[in-house]
Amino acid sequence: MLKHILRLPAAPGEPRVDQTPPEVRTSRRRLRACHECDWLMALPPLRPGQKADCPRCGHILATRHHRPAQRSMALAMSAMVALLMAVSFPFASFSVSGLGNRIELTETATTLIGFHQPLVGIAVILTIVVLPAIYLVGVIWLQLGLLQNEPLPASRTIARALAHLHRWMMADVFIIGALVSLFKVAGMADVELGLSFWAFCIFAVLLLLTTQSIDSDWMWFSLAGEPLAPEGARTGRTAASQGLAGCPTCGLVNRLDPMGRGHCQRCGERLHSRTPHSLQRTWALLVTAALMYIPANLYPIMTTTSLGQSSPSTIIGGVVELIQMGSWPVAAVIFVASVIVPVGKLVALAWLCLVVKRSAELNAVTRTRLYRLTEFIGRWSMVDVFVVAILVALIRAGSLMSIAPGPAALAFAAVVVLTMLAAMTFDPRLIWDTPPPRDSRHTQGTSG
Ligand SMILES: [Zn+2]
Ligand SMILES: [Zn+2]
Repeated sequence: MLKHILRLPAAPGEPRVDQTPPEVRTSRRRLRACHECDWLMALPPLRPGQKADCPRCGHILATRHHRPAQRSMALAMSAMVALLMAVSFPFASFSVSGLGNRIELTETATTLIGFHQPLVGIAVILTIVVLPAIYLVGVIWLQLGLLQNEPLPASRTIARALAHLHRWMMADVFIIGALVSLFKVAGMADVELGLSFWAFCIFAVLLLLTTQSIDSDWMWFSLAGEPLAPEGARTGRTAASQGLAGCPTCGLVNRLDPMGRGHCQRCGERLHSRTPHSLQRTWALLVTAALMYIPANLYPIMTTTSLGQSSPSTIIGGVVELIQMGSWPVAAVIFVASVIVPVGKLVALAWLCLVVKRSAELNAVTRTRLYRLTEFIGRWSMVDVFVVAILVALIRAGSLMSIAPGPAALAFAAVVVLTMLAAMTFDPRLIWDTPPPRDSRHTQGTSG
């Protein structure tokens, strides 16, 4: 009966973009449902530099920037130039006893494919070059339309895709991987960083600034306006209790059908009152990740050949080697990224799934913070995979000295991806779905 797939009229040719912030142009209340606790509230008017956060859990709902379109455009274009420089110049070179090798950035992925590790190679090239490049082109496309006061074709689809893409970009993690690789071989060979490495560092910083510059509330308002809030929506209670849901992509509050499903009328994103089978899917991903973590530790992650002698090393073996070499800080980085972070994430998510049914309002803020932390740190475990990718490509001097990837590299990359997916399928709103305690029955009475 309540089928909400009405799209906004496209109004071809009519300029819809207005550079003034949303609050100046609309006097009606703009409702938002918190992504993490589902609390329904009205977005306050924001001035540049101001943020709006959820009063219940502290999640940031919107950040207003000064001249958002110009800012994102300038950052994205500079990042693109830095990326082009990073892929066109030599990344690093190494030499040992007169033999040496010089690599470009993309060779860190292509060499892995040559060693029959195509999946790891693809994961490396996607996360450090391909996805960031797609993201930057998307940002430039969107902002170009907004600056011309006329959104370019497919703007809404692109804006939706960007919201899903950004967590899979790992340029910053790759830099840590490059630095760890440097320390690992520093005692054995001469390694020099090329122009591409420095360009890549600048690119990583600019990419981070670009993602932070996106004011998605302003962008969606400029792209597609703001449809009226659903009738009867009341702030100060959860969206689900009123048959509503906030769009995870554009933020708009929509009415759902009686089954608790729907589509966002502004961006077209699929909506659910709660992510379907969230706990089951998170458990399945966690169990698979835990199983993959066993071969990731049992098998060697890489094999170093030096003067004809091969010595395979596991993740823990690599940490022990670094400690023996006296590189305590680097050993600590690898230990945290490869052991503490993935194990901590598995334990934290499993615990959240276990206690979610026995929720207590008192703990909900702490649990939401823990969830946020697991979501934030997940990608940093990729460090060791990047170290393997860089060393395998760089250290190639035949039987004198060379490094080959081991089977654990694929298993470990799978652990990282699976735990990231597990964090995404877990619906943090479940943490707040508390059966009301006995002493607050009166609040139930008023909402019925
Ligand atoms: Zn909240
Ligand atoms: Zn939406």
